[in-house]
Order: sequence, then C-alpha cells, then structure tokens
Amino acid sequence: MKAAVVRAFGRPLAIEDLPAPRPGPGEVLLKVQTSGVCHTDLHAADGDWPVQPALPFIPGHEGVGVVAALGSGVKGLREGDLAGVPWLHDACGHCEYCNAGWETLCEAQHNTGYSVNGAFAEYVIANAAYAAPLPAGVDALSIAPILCAGVTTYKGIRETETRPGEWIAIYGVGGLGHVAIQYAKAMGLHVVAFDIAADKLALARECGADLALDATASDAVARTLQATGGGAHGVLVTAVSLPAFEQALAVVRRRGTISLVGLPPGHFPTPVFDVVLKRITLRGSIVGTRRDLAEALAFAAEGKVRTRVHAARLEDVNVVLSNLKAGKVDGRVVFDLR
Ligand code: NAD
Ligand code: ZN
Ligand code: ZN
Repeated sequence: MKAAVVRAFGRPLAIEDLPAPRPGPGEVLLKVQTSGVCHTDLHAADGDWPVQPALPFIPGHEGVGVVAALGSGVKGLREGDLAGVPWLHDACGHCEYCNAGWETLCEAQHNTGYSVNGAFAEYVIANAAYAAPLPAGVDALSIAPILCAGVTTYKGIRETETRPGEWIAIYGVGGLGHVAIQYAKAMGLHVVAFDIAADKLALARECGADLALDATASDAVARTLQATGGGAHGVLVTAVSLPAFEQALAVVRRRGTISLVGLPPGHFPTPVFDVVLKRITLRGSIVGTRRDLAEALAFAAEGKVRTRVHAARLEDVNVVLSNLKAGKVDGRVVFDLR
C-alpha cells in the first residue's frame, strides 16, 4: 500500500510502498477514502512534544474508510461499512477513567497516527469498539475533519460550561477554529473569533462569528471587553501560539473558563493574582469520547456545521504540511485516496 511515512523528525515524509497491515482481534482494516490533515500531524512529524512517536510511523487521525477485513471477535462493523478512525485509537476499557466515561484520559490508550500507524495511507487499522460508524452515502471529504477538529472543538466548547446567550472567544480560525465557530453558534453562543491573518478573519465571519478580530491589533482586548460587556464567559484556545494563551486571560470574564486545546510546545505565564481574584478556571481539553464524537457528527449530519475542505493528493503531503506550518491553509486539507 502507498503510505506517507515519517522516518526522521523535521524531515520531509517519504511516500513508500508498504505491506498493508492485518487486523488483530477486535480490529478492522479500513480501505482509506479520505484523510484530514490536522496540525497535530505536523507536531508529530516535527517531534514537537515531550512524548514523541516511535520512528518510523504513519501520521493521520481523521481517516474515513470502508471496512475491508475483520479481525476475530469484531462486533458492530461489517465488511463494506463506512467508518472513521479518530485520534483515540483504543483505550483499556476498565480503568477508573474508562469506567467513568473519560476514555480520552486512559493511561493505556493508543493514538492513531502517533503511537500506532495512521491514515496517511491506503489502508489503516481501526479498533472496532472505538471507530466511528458513519452513515453510508455521507460525503467522505467533508466529514473527515469532524473526526478530530469537530469532536475536539465541540468538547472544548462544552468544557467552557458556557450557556446559550453567553459569549465565547475562539482563538485560531484554522482547521479547528473554523468548525468551533459553527458549533458555538449552533449551541446558541455569541462568538468573537481571533486570528492573525486577514483571510482567516474573513473565514470566521463566513462561519458566523459575530466579531472577528486580529489578535495582534492594539485594541483587540479592549474591543472584546466592550462587545461582550466585561469579557467572554468562555474562551477556546486552538491557536498554535503561546501569546494567544496569554491573551485568553485578558479577554475572559470574571468566573469564566478557558479551554486550552492548541498544543504549541512551551509554557505561558499565568498571572496568579488575576486568576485567583477573578475566579478563572483554566482547563485542558483533549479530543472527545466516542459519545462526544457521535454528537459532533450529528451536528454535521444536520448541516449545522460545514467544514471548509480542500482535496489533495497523498503524494503532495510535504507541500501540504509546509503550507499548514506557514498558516496558509484555509480550513482543512483532506487527502483524497478514492
Ligand atoms: P491550524 O494550523 O489549522 O490553525 C491554527 C490557527 O491559529 C491558524 O489559523 C493560525 O493563523 C492561528 N494563529 C496563530 N497565531 C495566532 C494568534 N496569536 N492568535 C490567534 N490565532 C493565531 O491548526 P489546527 O489543526 O486547527 O490545530 C490547532 C492546534 O490544536 C494544534 O496545536 C493541534 O495540535 C491542536 N489540537 C489539539 C487537540 C486536542 O485534543 N487538544 C486536538 C486537535 C488539535
Ligand atoms: Zn487532530
Ligand atoms: Zn482505560
């Protein structure tokens, strides 16, 4: 099978011809139709994070494919079904987190395109219990980004505990941010979106943002405080930028919650005095559970969230990743392997 392989961090991926994997017990083999490109794939290929993937590996965790073979004991999926393979490849199913419906925190989890091979390939293995069943006939190109960008922002917004009629500030209008705006609007929130590029702010407005601001403008914070009447009740930070995390603390309302989702390597300063006296909650948010994913997919199925996608060839993986790094991707690039 054709696959895009990371052999060394920070180096171009190699397009290689590898044997297709075989599904083990409880697993299925998917013939990949489409595969979205998340900024996490770039962090993985660059070895950005404290825990690095073992080399070599195949990235990609927004894979949509047709079940081509079943391992032993598979329940719920049959050959020919359409399914998605998300970041949460599998979890142990019986630890305190799995038992509490927080399988995204399982310490024994495997992650697609990171600790196990992903969907930048003609075939990928999914765990039948964690794969997302998709309705036959769904558009494989536009649904792919829901498998990570969609579920992650849907969950991240819910983690801000904002309620209809309140304000949410969304940092970053990339693959995640452009769907985040739509989830937030569908959930009855007012949205102020921030990015640093004019075309991203235009996309934010198309996606329904009430206000779209250049995060680097000197009056960005003041305008937000004024428009929201004292700060956003919730903030979702998807920007791959530490200054954005810092600015989130300046635009959040007293008693508000900041959902940290973007993963730029490094640290950002947290003003203890402000956080304490304003009773701010700073909360990490990592993808979403199977239940969250089913809910996120339902918003897309109902047409409440529409992804902006650009089809690309797997062979162009290095151009795609360098465009993503340069902030030149409008929405999401999705490899089309059909
Ligand atoms: P992307 O590159 O498509 O989008 C990032 C956006 O941030 C770009 O539009 C960029 O212009 C913008 N940006 C850069 N600096 C900014 C600033 N100072 N203020 C506002 N916006 C700024 O990336 P993506 O695929 O949307 O992923 C975003 C981040 O989220 C990555 O770090 C990724 O690893 C992470 N991520 C986290 C989870 C999770 O579960 N927590 C899941 C998926 C992705
Ligand atoms: Zn992702
Ligand atoms: Zn577990």
